[in-house]
Amino acid sequence: YKDNPYEISTSDGATSVCFVQNTRLAVLDAMEILNLPMSERDRGALELMKTPRTFYFFVIRRGQKPIGVLWLISMTKVIELNLNEQMTIEQTCNFIGTAIFNSKLYRKVELQSRDIEMLNKELAKKIEILDDMAHKDSLTGLYNFGFFREELNRLIHEYNRCRKQQFLSLIIIDIDHFKNFNDTYGHVSGNTAICRTADILFEMSRKMDVACRYGGEEFSIILPKCDIQGAMHLGERLRSRIESEKLEIDGKSVSFTISVGCAQFIPDEDMSSFVTRADQALYRAKAGGRNRVEFDV
Ligand code: GH3
Ligand code: MG
Ligand code: MG
Repeated sequence: YKDNPYEISTSDGATSVCFVQNTRLAVLDAMEILNLPMSERDRGALELMKTPRTFYFFVIRRGQKPIGVLWLISMTKVIELNLNEQMTIEQTCNFIGTAIFNSKLYRKVELQSRDIEMLNKELAKKIEILDDMAHKDSLTGLYNFGFFREELNRLIHEYNRCRKQQFLSLIIIDIDHFKNFNDTYGHVSGNTAICRTADILFEMSRKMDVACRYGGEEFSIILPKCDIQGAMHLGERLRSRIESEKLEIDGKSVSFTISVGCAQFIPDEDMSSFVTRADQALYRAKAGGRNRVEFDV
């Protein structure tokens, strides 16, 4: 009725009367009323059934309110239900009413939980995007300086907790003569060189490594479970790969180089001394002529 709204009126026949008046109806023998005036719906129903005899209409209720009508029809002979039988059927109708109501409720809850699930997924995606925006550098997609500090701090704690059985190393990378590069090829090409460097760093580091853009044309990679030899080895591979990299700028093939400083964490030192040692190694690489890898002694 609710989903298919039309006026329910007593002129529609026995079913509607039963519904509107909220009471059960019985026609003991339809054969005896065939000649009496009746609604079009009732006439149509009787014609469909070749030998209709007894009709009972019971109200299906939710609480006291009618929500439907149950038909019981005997097709060949008259069957009179006694009061007990009628009470049993009324009881059954109450169960049906509750079941219909519950199934509608269930459907509603199901649809709502589907909506909630979808909203949760959208929310999770948005949180991921926000998380990325907070932790990543927008130019290169590498982690930013804030995340670098957080991660390094966390990994130093982890190192201390593991009773110092594992190694932890740090690489700091700086593009050589980058001011010159910008002055010669322009800022946009400078950005291309920064992005290419970032891609190579990301590509050549392990999954557990944390590659960051430290600032302008400086980068760092935190290397958990890696000693100074491993750090130097990676530094050298990065240096040589970038040296051989060619950028196409205004039809010209342009290359650039990096200097690399490496340090291995010393038990019980603090974060800033660890970073300073890697920085000092980088400084020595610069002082030693650039396009080199140095480590802190
Ligand atoms: P060095 O070999 O000693 O590192 O020399 P350098 O010229 O690379 O060092 P310096 O610190 O003097 O210059 C760094 C330059 O990097 C200056 C600045 O214009 C440029 N730079 C910093 N951030 C960006 C950036 O996001 N994009 C571009 N294109 N250039 C940047
Ligand atoms: Mg620099
Ligand atoms: Mg530089």
